[in-house]
Amino acid sequence: MSKILVIAEHDGATLNSSTAKTVACAASIENAEIDIAVLASAAGPVATQAAELESVTRVLTIECAENEQAIAAILAPQIAALAGAYSHVFGPSTTFGKDLMPHVAALLGVNQVSDIMSVESSHTFKRPVYAGSAVATVEAPADSIVVGTVRIASYGAVSGGNSAAIEAADVTADLPSHTRVLEVKSGVSDRPDLQTAAKVVAGGRALGSEESFDLIYKLADKLAAGVGATRAAVDAGYVPNEMQVGQTGKIIAPDLYIAIGISGAIQHITGIKDAGTIVAINKDEEAPIFEVADIGLVADLFSALPELIEALD
Ligand SMILES: Cc1cc2nc3c(=O)[nH]c(=O)nc-3n(C[C@H](O)[C@H](O)[C@H](O)COP(=O)(O)OP(=O)(O)OC[C@H]3O[C@@H](n4cnc5c(N)ncnc54)[C@H](O)[C@@H]3O)c2cc1C
Repeated sequence: MSKILVIAEHDGATLNSSTAKTVACAASIENAEIDIAVLASAAGPVATQAAELESVTRVLTIECAENEQAIAAILAPQIAALAGAYSHVFGPSTTFGKDLMPHVAALLGVNQVSDIMSVESSHTFKRPVYAGSAVATVEAPADSIVVGTVRIASYGAVSGGNSAAIEAADVTADLPSHTRVLEVKSGVSDRPDLQTAAKVVAGGRALGSEESFDLIYKLADKLAAGVGATRAAVDAGYVPNEMQVGQTGKIIAPDLYIAIGISGAIQHITGIKDAGTIVAINKDEEAPIFEVADIGLVADLFSALPELIEALD
């Protein structure tokens, strides 16, 4: 039997949906018994949400003032102290998990299995390599703990309705004091969250300026969609970094992805390959984006978008 510890991602009040997707991956391992660890200053509300997830046996809370902010250097020793009772420790392959899980793996002296996209057996997994242009099958040693991050775009969230036991875990670990959070800043937006939105409209370098990017926001608002961008658009200063989609940005899996003035570089495509339907608007009919698009429109975005936005009025 595999005993799997899933590390909850949360903001102190709400469990991030990445946790339910990580549980879905863990549950695809045969004979898995799954616990969730909630590290927080006050774990109550998040633990209650975690206990509702299907396939979860126990929710372990680890509460202390140092856990107020999710600082990898502080959370990792506590997780490593818990890990001895488990065969696997999984976290989501989000910014949170990508920061935290290597610390855990290093403390346990094991290699991390990153970006698990499917489970072949308890110690064999598939993961994307070369920006998603190839898939590697990797095998972790059977005699040590498997520390892994789960590619959340590859899994649907497990459903709710469970009522797993919630227990306070007794953890003793030396916590470093060399790292602290000075300030947390996040963009305020009424639009759907890019990472969980069912529809996303994204713009590329072709928009040409921050002002012109307004066309993307207008179309997104008509469709109640989230907004994304390429790295070129971010680097040019049209939009903030948190909107970048792709290998070094966010990996997303919306039902509908509309790529406007985006060439379709492999590093961008790797962020959207699990999208349901991809629509592309590009003036170059040879643009690589059309190779992955389900629906393509060869057009100048500056004439096509205003027409489209007007038609949706
Ligand atoms: C290590 C590494 C990591 C990277 N990570 C990422 C990442 O996470 N995300 C990412 O996006 N990129 C990433 N990149 C960059 C990536 O390689 C591309 O450079 C980038 O995606 C290109 O962005 P773009 O499509 O907006 O720009 P371009 O490639 O310049 O494409 C612009 C497109 O707009 C079209 N166009 C121009 N004018 C119009 C018009 N008026 N109407 C309609 N279409 C028009 C053009 O035909 C062209 O196809 C990474 C690169 C590296 C090396």
